[in-house]
Amino acid sequence: MSGRVVDLEMDRSRCVLCGGPNACVMERRARGETVDGPCWCVRRIFPEELKARASERDGGASCICQACLDSAGEARGR
Ligand SMILES: [Zn+2]
Repeated sequence: MSGRVVDLEMDRSRCVLCGGPNACVMERRARGETVDGPCWCVRRIFPEELKARASERDGGASCICQACLDSAGEARGR
């Protein structure tokens, strides 16, 4: 193991917007982890502008993290 560079564009375990861990269950399963239940994201609603920003960055390949979703929800008010 020597100097493996983490490429944000290829690392789907990281948030497309902030680079933090997105805790995506689908992605964790893909890496061989056993995870019960659906991803946290199925219980949340993603604002259209947030999805637009994500797909601008990488075509929506990586998931958005909970922190970005939370701050986007606050920005909208309710
Ligand atoms: Zn994020």
